[in-house]
Amino acid sequence: MTTTSAYLTVGGIDIDVIHKDIKHLHIGVYPPLGRVRVAAPERFDDEQVRLAVVQRLAWIKRQRKRLQAAPRQTEREMVTGESHYVWGNRLRLKVVERPGRAKAEIDGDRLVIYTAPDSTAESRRAALECWYRDQLRQALAPLIEKWENKLQVTVPKWTIRRMKTKWGSCNRESRHIWFNLELAKKHPNCLEYIVVHEMTHYVERKHGERFIKLMDERLPNWELRRSELNGSPLASEEWSALERSLERQGGLTDV
Ligand SMILES: [Zn+2]
Repeated sequence: MTTTSAYLTVGGIDIDVIHKDIKHLHIGVYPPLGRVRVAAPERFDDEQVRLAVVQRLAWIKRQRKRLQAAPRQTEREMVTGESHYVWGNRLRLKVVERPGRAKAEIDGDRLVIYTAPDSTAESRRAALECWYRDQLRQALAPLIEKWENKLQVTVPKWTIRRMKTKWGSCNRESRHIWFNLELAKKHPNCLEYIVVHEMTHYVERKHGERFIKLMDERLPNWELRRSELNGSPLASEEWSALERSLERQGGLTDV
């Protein structure tokens, strides 16, 4: 079965389109960021896909709102035994109580958080987030340098932050690029895809044919990396639970 893929932007929402040997168009809105993916029959062209999406736009926006406003009370307690993702690997958490500043590190197949005996889940979470940020910063620096050299452009400023709907974004005028902190949980291949994707926006704003052609030249297996990013195990169990509950409500997938 051959598949081709494309991007569309409809009503300000980026849509991933996959053409497949299927009979009916299928729209899905996926956690954690509310990514929208359309599987379309091969005979559908961009315009037909766009029309189908426009018709379902209100539904899509509702699903995205729901995902993005998802209650956080299911967030993990940050206790020994929980699993957390680091660079695409699922690691078991071990909490070690000891005096001094909280910090995190990897020890074999364990993610260890050292923390004061009376620490709260919130402070352990903050320590881990700080560590994720550090990991991401260390991985991004050489990647950005590599692509600055390859593409002969500079990235004057880049920032890591929490984002609810995007893996990355860029300001074409200032060339400032933002990266989603969650990328530290995904395979490094995915991070490189986002670096190249955002740098490609320097020369092409939209996700049209030209953008895809540039991506094909720059990173021939970008589609694989993109599906790894969007399809790899969910960042945390809270999202699988959320996904299941949305499925039960019949909300997540639109057939
Ligand atoms: Zn983009």
